[in-house]
Amino acid sequence: MAKLLIIGCGGVARVAIAKCCQNSEVFTEICIASRTVSKCEEVAKELQPKTATKITTAAIDAEDVPALTELIKNYKPDAVLNVALPYQDLTIMDACLAAGVHYIDTANYEPEDTDDPAWRAVYEKRCKELGFSAYFDYSWQWAYQEKFKNAGLTALLGTGFDPGVTSVFVAYAKKHYFDTIDTVDILDCNGGDHGYKFATNFNPEINLREVSAPGSYMENGKWVEIPAMSIKREYDFDQVGKKDMYLLHHEEIEALGKNFPEIKRIRFFMTFGQSYLDHMRCLEDVGMLSTTPINFNGQEIVPIQFLKALLPDPATLGPRTVGKTNIGCIFTGKKDGKEKTLYIYNVCDHQECYKEVGSQAISYTTGVPAMIGAMLVATGAWRNPGVYTTDEFDPDPYMEALNKWGLPWVVDENPALVD
Ligand code: NDP
Repeated sequence: MAKLLIIGCGGVARVAIAKCCQNSEVFTEICIASRTVSKCEEVAKELQPKTATKITTAAIDAEDVPALTELIKNYKPDAVLNVALPYQDLTIMDACLAAGVHYIDTANYEPEDTDDPAWRAVYEKRCKELGFSAYFDYSWQWAYQEKFKNAGLTALLGTGFDPGVTSVFVAYAKKHYFDTIDTVDILDCNGGDHGYKFATNFNPEINLREVSAPGSYMENGKWVEIPAMSIKREYDFDQVGKKDMYLLHHEEIEALGKNFPEIKRIRFFMTFGQSYLDHMRCLEDVGMLSTTPINFNGQEIVPIQFLKALLPDPATLGPRTVGKTNIGCIFTGKKDGKEKTLYIYNVCDHQECYKEVGSQAISYTTGVPAMIGAMLVATGAWRNPGVYTTDEFDPDPYMEALNKWGLPWVVDENPALVD
């Protein structure tokens, strides 16, 4: 029924690909296209004997717009799923527009080179005007709104777990449980243990940039920025237990703040162990998280990219990781004039994921919603010409698909709140 071009073949992509192959009634054909084509061929070779989905592969540099446009025009997919890196979001959107195809991704744009003066000027203006200093934000992709609208194409942004599922949880809570939502706390708990002293669960460069940045939250429509890791809470997570969590800036806050202006406060918390934080602080203090190239023995290296080469590849953590993730949203608000609280969350087991698709739960909880978003856009269930996040569509088919495709959710109408 649908033909999908998948760009990227890393940890998240492999889960999305495995899930498309399980869902062969919808995804009759997929093409896996990435920078290193041998990785695509490896995945295709492993999955093809087990699925009715016809898998092909291609080598592509997603930053080469003419080459990508040609690939899309030749393959003629119903949609393109971008599970490469946020650095490629804009070039893939450009190619989708040039080839007339719908676009889906899991993370908003950020530049690879944060010292690029043209980008830096726009960034510094935004920091001053909006009051948050994360390198990533939606403005770059929201700027494509008219282009996608005029082309009659849908761009679905950020269909991973957070953002993605968490944003759908907000739309679902609003549709079925609240007249008005007052506060949302998004809680991302990874109770998994991979046995390494230090490793990141997804792309180290993207992950370390995110957690070493100042935290921020939205209050009464305005950003409040705080030093990194300076707001800490403890929460007792279902099936995981008590964990320390820290307030971070996170991209769904920006979209939810725009699309649900009634919400008075939106915060995001992520759990970290003390050892992870100590390692990160030390790496930061010695300059290993820097994106600025340095000259070493006549060769130019980017410290964070060198660090990435030293750290375990997130795609190899699967067999070693035990424990569970628990990710969801706690709401306060009003229904029929009465105060109401609600918690919607999913619990996912690292080893169960590994048994099913050969990946740990972080890649799983991102790859499954990537497949679901692609399915809804490719089949026409979620279509609206323009650029949208997952909270802007009817949440019901997405919530149904989460239950069906491996991320069942729980509704708790009497949760403990975060102070
Ligand atoms: P990986 O680093 O494991 O994989 C990235 C893939 O993209 C690799 O296959 C890489 O190719 C490919 N790639 C990189 N640059 C290019 C290029 N120029 N052209 C073509 N292919 C390219 O990343 P993850 O799988 O961990 O993450 C994938 C995405 O998911 C990221 O955008 C990340 O931010 C997002 N994410 C979203 C989450 C959410 O909940 N919303 C959570 C976690 C991740 P090569 O093999 O050659 O390196």
